[in-house]
Amino acid sequence: MTADKTKSDAEWREILGPERYRILREHGTEPAFTGEYWNHHETGEYRCAACGEALFSSAAKFDSGTGWPSFYRPVHPDAVAEKHDTSHGMVRIEALCGSCGSHLGHVFPDGPAPTGMRYCINSASLNFQKKQD
Ligand code: FE
Repeated sequence: MTADKTKSDAEWREILGPERYRILREHGTEPAFTGEYWNHHETGEYRCAACGEALFSSAAKFDSGTGWPSFYRPVHPDAVAEKHDTSHGMVRIEALCGSCGSHLGHVFPDGPAPTGMRYCINSASLNFQKKQD
């Protein structure tokens, strides 16, 4: 995590607004099939909604049927940090922004080839940037 990407709780509250703050900073989850990106198929890059760092490419997005945007890998290995999470009576791997530490979603070992991983991410944690051509 880089120091210049971290902010105080009050700053995050101000910047993100209530819904994004709840998800990104309080480990919340948006209801399935409600977010902006679960059914989004444009070519481009998904960036952290808190700090703007690139997290996922549309090239690694797949239709998981879960109602959340799903990717089989991040843009590079350090883009997303993974943390053991035992909240809500489940053992899961939490996905966090590698730059600012904001909560993105969870990682499950049931994704497609080539990685077999499924990064199940809240739309509210992402901002899509369309590829310029
Ligand atoms: Fe971030």
